[in-house]
Amino acid sequence: MKKTAKHFCPHCQKEVSWQDNPHRPFCSERCKMIDLGSWFSENYKIPGEKKPSEDEEEN
Ligand SMILES: [Zn+2]
Repeated sequence: MKKTAKHFCPHCQKEVSWQDNPHRPFCSERCKMIDLGSWFSENYKIPGEKKPSEDEEEN
């Protein structure tokens, strides 16, 4: 039996239905694109601010 944990959109914090959701962990394609877009633009705006070093990876 699988546990059905609740998931929340990393962008808008809405509850996300995990099943049959092609955009997970986001609630929608919109949030997915916004989040990716801001991520990319931040990387462009802040050169060398964050080091892509070893971060704790979540498994
Ligand atoms: Zn969202």
